[in-house]
Amino acid sequence: MKIAILTIGDELCIGQIINTNAAWMAQACTEIGGIVYRHVTIQDGIEELLYELNILSKECDCILMSGGLGPTHDDKTKETLIAYFNDTLILHEQTLQSLKARARLRGLPLNQRNMDQALVPSTCTVLENPRGTAPGMLFHVDDTIYVSLPGVPSEMKGIMQDHVLPYLRKNIEQEDGKIPYYHTILTKGIPESALADLIGAPEDFLQTDESLAFLPSYQGVRLRLGILSSHPDHAKNRLGELQTILHSKVGTYIYGYGNATLLSVTTDILIQKQCTIGVVESCTGGMLGAEFTKQSGSSTYFLGGLQTYSNALKIQLAHVSPKTLEQFGAVSKEVAEEMAIGGRKVLNTSYCLSITGIAGPEGGTEEKPVGTVWIALASEHDIVSKRFNFGGDRSINRERSVMQSIAMLHDALISRK
Ligand code: ATP
Ligand code: MG
Repeated sequence: MKIAILTIGDELCIGQIINTNAAWMAQACTEIGGIVYRHVTIQDGIEELLYELNILSKECDCILMSGGLGPTHDDKTKETLIAYFNDTLILHEQTLQSLKARARLRGLPLNQRNMDQALVPSTCTVLENPRGTAPGMLFHVDDTIYVSLPGVPSEMKGIMQDHVLPYLRKNIEQEDGKIPYYHTILTKGIPESALADLIGAPEDFLQTDESLAFLPSYQGVRLRLGILSSHPDHAKNRLGELQTILHSKVGTYIYGYGNATLLSVTTDILIQKQCTIGVVESCTGGMLGAEFTKQSGSSTYFLGGLQTYSNALKIQLAHVSPKTLEQFGAVSKEVAEEMAIGGRKVLNTSYCLSITGIAGPEGGTEEKPVGTVWIALASEHDIVSKRFNFGGDRSINRERSVMQSIAMLHDALISRK
């Protein structure tokens, strides 16, 4: 199935917002075996949309549109689809009822503009949108599928997952019977190139219709195994075999599978081993604490944190000795360790992570250039610390500090009895 992704909106064209919908839709379509053939982004305008629909319908089997379904004057998609399909609007009773219920719940009046969102082209299949007001629309005309979705990312994703992806997947299956299955293996502590050396030539263990992709990120490198198959059980077994092969080659670097993250794997072990964590942060200003509280149920293991940006607060809250600060400076092994040890006592946790560094772009010296970060981890039994040099970019330094802190905690937890 050749798919075109057509994103609509002036703000996308002028660069005011980032086109995350296009990336998300493309990834989701690729995962179900679609071929994303073209990306097109256009301004809000009837002529522009008609022009692209005419071209793309000749080249593709499916056109996925997002944007321009709202109730304001600049939302032109529905109007254009009516013209394109030579259709008329009819009232969709179920949408009207849910608009009324939604307005009641929020204590807001339902004006004509809002009610018009329940008017839909007579030939479309209405795709329910419980997260918003404008429903999605699907037209399947002469072997071409047209889908129009709201621009709001959460609404677009919801309708894609609930309705569009299952529909496309069924159509793709009917095309040639084979659909892709994936399994992701998560590694950490080894760069992509070294991992590739250890794994060797993929063609030595992959058969036709099988693939291996390397997906690097700050969390580590993800290995995505893929297989095209017409039997889910066959795909599952074969992916299991391939996982065993990779395990024999790079098992020591594997920390998880599938949609897990370093954070979720680490916090699962914290829960399982009934341990708690606290943080003392300087250059990340609360980001590590925010990371730990991303997941629901985080209160089981995350007790709290101290933000000690100034030296005075490092002394007052984390009980760092003024002498240590004076002798070694705030960004040093000694201060990082005292922050973690002091923080652990104050916060009364099994583990305490501390971060102190020079995020930049100012403040670097020859001895401690921008990007120098010390991270320490204190436990009941010991203290470990590491120096990193992440480079010149402030936001990357802060993000990587957070990821490396979690990696250090993960290392400590897996070796804990
Ligand atoms: P609304 O009912 O909110 O008007 P709509 O279907 O008309 O929805 P737009 O007006 O195009 O959609 O966009 C609504 C909001 O969704 C935009 O302000 C923008 O923040 C976000 N958005 C739209 N398109 C995209 C996109 N391609 N990628 C990321 N965000 C988007
Ligand atoms: Mg709009």
